Amino acid sequence: MKVMLHEMSWTEAKKYFTKNDIAILPVGSNEQHGPQNPLGTDHLIAKAIAEETAKRTGVLCLQVVPFGVSSHHKQFWGTIYISPKTFKSYVKEVCLALSYYGVRKIVIVNGHGGNRCALMEMARELREKGIFASIFHWWEVANKLLPDLFKPEEKGHAAAEETSVNLALHPHIVSMDRAVDEKPRRHTAQTEGIIFSLDTVDYTSSGVFGKSTTASAEKGKKVFDAVVNGLVKHVNLLKEAKIEDLIQKHRV
Ligand SMILES: [Zn+2]
Repeated sequence: MKVMLHEMSWTEAKKYFTKNDIAILPVGSNEQHGPQNPLGTDHLIAKAIAEETAKRTGVLCLQVVPFGVSSHHKQFWGTIYISPKTFKSYVKEVCLALSYYGVRKIVIVNGHGGNRCALMEMARELREKGIFASIFHWWEVANKLLPDLFKPEEKGHAAAEETSVNLALHPHIVSMDRAVDEKPRRHTAQTEGIIFSLDTVDYTSSGVFGKSTTASAEKGKKVFDAVVNGLVKHVNLLKEAKIEDLIQKHRV
């Protein structure tokens, strides 16, 4: 059975949509991930997690949205960034197109932390339209399910955890001989309880936040399997759930 929308014909899609009201949409970014990882890291990982979950649950999966909210990485070559507003509108319109065919439950598989705020705003706006969107941040799930597999300094952007998942999924585009360990710098204005907008280059010269040389395909496979298992559980729950139980009726 086909689960990828772009591989179906319209008659096959009709068959799916008339029987199902759920879909999976992976989103990511195209941004620097240190000298060793491909720029596509965030969308390639989200795509792999989403597609494997679709195969295991029979839930329709869309093509990955490859560009995200990444202007904070732009000083590093090849980072293609779009504004939060554009990203939110684009992903939302994809979801609304799905809803035209009766989809009311959408699982967004996100590969990039910078997309977080735009996705939350979008989920709220979709809810107002009677569409339930859940957002799956794989690295947070990995942190919960495998808290001790990596040390804190191995869990940062482009560090060992992310590099390991790349090694497990597509080792031919990872160059471990270029992997570096770099302790992020502390900004001079940094004090407790304060946040401000910075660029990645303010913290790191290589683009790596922490330790990446300890990455391994074996650990990456463990992360991928755990994360997919977690997502399969969520998708199966959502598949069975009625939209009336996910979004409350008007007024109490
Ligand atoms: Zn990343």
